[in-house]
Amino acid sequence: MQRTEISAYGEFGLIKYLTEKFKIENPSTLKGVGDDAAVLSYENKKVLVTTDLLLEGIHFDLVYVPLMHLGYKAAVVNFSDIYAMNGAPKQITVSIGVSKRFSVEDLEQLYAGIQMACTKYGVDLIGGDTSASLTGLAISITCIGEADEDKIVYRNGAKENDLICVTGNLGSAYMGLQLLEREKVVFGANSEAQPDFENRDYILQRQLKPEARKDIVELLAEKGVVPTSMMDISDGLSSELLHICTQSNVGCRVYEDKIPINIQAVIMAEELNMSIVTAALNGGEDYELLFTVSLEDYDKIVGMEGVAMVGHITKSALGLQLVGREGDEIELRAQGWNSLEE
Ligand code: ADP
Ligand code: MG
Repeated sequence: MQRTEISAYGEFGLIKYLTEKFKIENPSTLKGVGDDAAVLSYENKKVLVTTDLLLEGIHFDLVYVPLMHLGYKAAVVNFSDIYAMNGAPKQITVSIGVSKRFSVEDLEQLYAGIQMACTKYGVDLIGGDTSASLTGLAISITCIGEADEDKIVYRNGAKENDLICVTGNLGSAYMGLQLLEREKVVFGANSEAQPDFENRDYILQRQLKPEARKDIVELLAEKGVVPTSMMDISDGLSSELLHICTQSNVGCRVYEDKIPINIQAVIMAEELNMSIVTAALNGGEDYELLFTVSLEDYDKIVGMEGVAMVGHITKSALGLQLVGREGDEIELRAQGWNSLEE
C-alpha cells in the first residue's frame, strides 16, 4: 500500500485533505471547519456536550483494531452519551495526536470511519486540532447535541417501583475483546496462524463496530415514554446500576435470568471457561442503554423490540440485589471495566 508521509502535506494541507469530504447537514451548524471557531445556532433547545479521550495502548490496540473501525467507534461512543441523555447528537470536533509511524493513508482510514459514523447518525464534523505526538495515536472527540429541556433524562431520577430496562444484549463486546486477545496471543506465538473467527462475526462486530441506540431513543419518543433515569452501558451493568441507584438514592432488584445475552457470546464464554453473566455484569463497551420507567409506562414498554425488563427499583435501604436463577440473592458490586486498574 502507498505511504505518504504527513510532512508531505503540512498541517493545513492535511486538515483540508481529511475534512473536505465531510458535508454539513444540520441547520444548527452555521460554520464548520475552516475558521478560528465553529459557529452553532441552537434555538429553543438545550445543548448537550460530551467528550472522550482515547489513547493507543490504553483504550485501543492497533494490532487488531483497523483504523477505520477505530474512527467509527470513537465517534459512536460519543453519540451514545448524547442519546443516553435522551438527546440527539449534531456536531463533533475531532482532535488527534499523531506520531511519525502514521501516514496520510492511515489518517484517511481513521477519518473514513468517522465520516461513516457521522453520515449514519446525521452528525457534522465542525473542527478539531492536530498535533504531532511522540508516543503513537491519541484521539479526542467532543460531541455536541440537542434536547428539549423537559425531555432530558439524568441518572438521578429513578423512583421506587420503577421498571429497570436494558436494550439489546450485554457482554457481547467483552466476549469479542476476549476473542481478539486470544487470537493476538496465538498469532504472537506463530505468525503463520490464521485467526479462527468462524461464527464469531456478531461478537467481533460488537467489539469493533458498536452502534449507539438512536433507534431506541426515537422509539421511546414515538411512544411518548420519557424514562425517569437513563445512561449508556459502557462499563458493565453492575457499575451503571450503581451510578443510577447512588445518584437517585434508591436500591434495585435485578433478575439474572432476565439479563439479555446473545448466543455467540454464550458459546464464546463457555469455550474460554468464563461466566457470561459476569461478562454481562462487569464487561465493558456494550453501549446499550440502561433506563428506568414509571410503572404506568409498562404497557408501552412490554412489547418494545430490543428492550428487556430486568428488574425494578426499590428503597435505598434494600441495596442492590441480583436475584440468581435459583432465587438466591447476591449483593451487586461494581467491578467495572476500568482501564486505570489494569
Ligand atoms: P488554530 O491554529 O486556530 O488551532 P488550526 O489550523 O488548528 O487552527 O485549525 C484550522 C481549522 O481546522 C479549524 O476549523 C479547526 O477546527 C480545524 N481542524 C484542525 N485539526 C482538525 C482535525 N484533526 N479534524 C478536524 N478539523 C480540524
Ligand atoms: Mg489548532
